[in-house]
Amino acid sequence: MPGFEVFGEEEKQQALEVFATGVLFRYEFGEQRQGVYKVREFEEAFCRYTGAAHAQAVTSGTAALKVALAALGVGAGDEVITQGFTFVATWEAILDIGAIPVFTEVDKTLNMDPADLEKKITGRTRAIIPVHMLGGQARIEEIVRIADRHGIPVIEDTAQAAGARLHGRHLGTFGAIGTFSFDSVKTMTTGEGGMCITSDEDLWRNMSEYHDHGHDHAVNPGGRGGEGRRFIGFNYRMMELQGAIGLAQLAKLDGMVSAQRANKAILREAAAAIPGVSFRTLPDEAGDSATFLAFMLPDRDRAAQVNAILRKQGVGAINFGENTWHFYPRWEHLAGGRTLCHSGWPFQAHGKRRVVYDPAALPASAELMNRTLVYQIPVRMDEAWRDRVVAALEQAARSL
Ligand SMILES: *Cc1c(COP(=O)(O)O)cnc(C)c1O
Repeated sequence: MPGFEVFGEEEKQQALEVFATGVLFRYEFGEQRQGVYKVREFEEAFCRYTGAAHAQAVTSGTAALKVALAALGVGAGDEVITQGFTFVATWEAILDIGAIPVFTEVDKTLNMDPADLEKKITGRTRAIIPVHMLGGQARIEEIVRIADRHGIPVIEDTAQAAGARLHGRHLGTFGAIGTFSFDSVKTMTTGEGGMCITSDEDLWRNMSEYHDHGHDHAVNPGGRGGEGRRFIGFNYRMMELQGAIGLAQLAKLDGMVSAQRANKAILREAAAAIPGVSFRTLPDEAGDSATFLAFMLPDRDRAAQVNAILRKQGVGAINFGENTWHFYPRWEHLAGGRTLCHSGWPFQAHGKRRVVYDPAALPASAELMNRTLVYQIPVRMDEAWRDRVVAALEQAARSL
């Protein structure tokens, strides 16, 4: 999922316009900045691209989740439901805002299982965060329908799926808020950075004020508004250089996605010949951002057998069942309730354990993740690497 692959002159030119003024801060410095407002321009361009009405740039995808939760009023005592296959950032943000993460199973979309979501909603559920993992859609329409029925807002963690759509509509625009990450391995990158999008002006105002110490940017869009802060905030401001690079990367996003689709099709065809193979369910194949190819074998042993062949050729696939970053049973610090805080917060409060996570709590996800193999799809696919992967997949197909 690599925007760094196409990093070039365009990013440099954009950044130079910021260096020309010397103003790295996104607000104020009215005279010196000579009309250059890169972060604001990036937000406007991101709205035009996704079709969202409002966008709020922030420092990271993790910050975007936290700002979105804050804007929705989520905090201590609340539960937020997300899925057990995601990056740790999703539940870190939930814990950081003071709420308790509740995890659902994933289904063959490798994203939130709507049936399990229904079971996990309680009277304390204040938000639901489906994640569009590995560039592919969650069953977002179904999830939003369930959430609407219970009056619970949805935040779409779209960190891994910039440029992906469902029936033509951009992911991140289905829920109350969509969040994005532009860290160094995402489809488009600003080194570090994130974005929240929404169609709700009040939510945008909450996000805008919260992300900058409560300053009001609606009164004076270039500056930081009048006196009188409505509530306390924090600092999650994006800087001008990131906004500049984001503009250049966003202009390349659709090109990256179509290159990935073409590259993915080549590997998919080779994998399809493996006996018993099936592919991850994509609710809309045409809208896939194609950052990854995920395929399943009938069981864990068979997946291990196939991966042994691929590894022997030097092109082993990722098995997220074994991956420590993205899958629930592997988060030992979560299961152990480990925190720097001397009182044990956020796992303990008032000397009592608030929540315990059992690593065996998501058996359907474990069964699925253990038999799923994944390749990351490059934008610019090295031909030697491609030939090696295709040959290894063909060998696996022959020898099983
Ligand atoms: C990368 C990622 C994030 C966090 O983004 P950062 O910009 O690295 O903070 C959140 N959720 C998911 C699913 C991610 O992949």
